Amino acid sequence: MYVNSSRSCLILFPARYLSNWTYAARTLVQSGVRMPKTEREYRQDIVEVGRLVYQKGWVAANDGNISIRLDQDRILCTPTGVSKGMMHPDDLVICDTSGNKLEGRKERTSEMAMHLTIYNMRPDIKAVVHAHPPVATGFATAGKPLNLALLPEVIIGLGCVPLADYGLPGTPALTDPMLPYIPKYDAILMANHGAVCYGEDVYKAFFKMETTEHYARISLVAELLGGATILPKQEVEKLFDSRTRYGVKARAGVEPGCPVAAEDADAGRFVVTREELVALVDEALRMRGVA
Ligand SMILES: [Zn+2]
Repeated sequence: MYVNSSRSCLILFPARYLSNWTYAARTLVQSGVRMPKTEREYRQDIVEVGRLVYQKGWVAANDGNISIRLDQDRILCTPTGVSKGMMHPDDLVICDTSGNKLEGRKERTSEMAMHLTIYNMRPDIKAVVHAHPPVATGFATAGKPLNLALLPEVIIGLGCVPLADYGLPGTPALTDPMLPYIPKYDAILMANHGAVCYGEDVYKAFFKMETTEHYARISLVAELLGGATILPKQEVEKLFDSRTRYGVKARAGVEPGCPVAAEDADAGRFVVTREELVALVDEALRMRGVA
């Protein structure tokens, strides 16, 4: 069940039973102010997203990691060596902004540095999800970014999904190739590894991962059917312009090569008939004295 990172609830008690705090809370809720989640609720959110990531087959064994920025000093994250589909809220670990463990009976994820880099570079980001969804990871392993302008929802929500070069997991080499992309994109493929997505809450980060994998699956099917029809620049621009209408805060704008519109993809390509191709080959052979 999707639950917003902020919740609102209506508290109805006879006025005589209301403490000052309850009265203040009710006033805030009734005036439209959302109450922040408790740490326990954030723990439950990570457990639920972990179960979804596992059930969708985006991780195997103990792969993947998820975190939420609790406040400016503390990050709640998944432990290492635990299946993300079988976590208990008390398995989670709280770290400081240098990655040192503050609370928790288990050890934190080994990819904490990647999460911290994203939080440092993007003050707007409150949660990070890293997984190995098989089709998107297939593109990452084949050295192919998900960068063609194919689907309105992807262009509006993500722009595109660039590919960061490979880096050894658990070291700064993993994060370094991602640095140019983090300020501009909310989803990144990691070569020969997986994908990372981030958002204003953990469900938004999860949905970006879902969109990335869905986009990869559709791209693969289109490729199998003879190649996708890429949208032209004019349509891409219209989709970027429509973001305000849909309330989307995505950072990605039109960048060279991301997304690739039809005109960019067609640049350098030309079409010839079979007869023209045979004539060109004959001409080339004649010039070399072969024919
Ligand atoms: Zn990984």
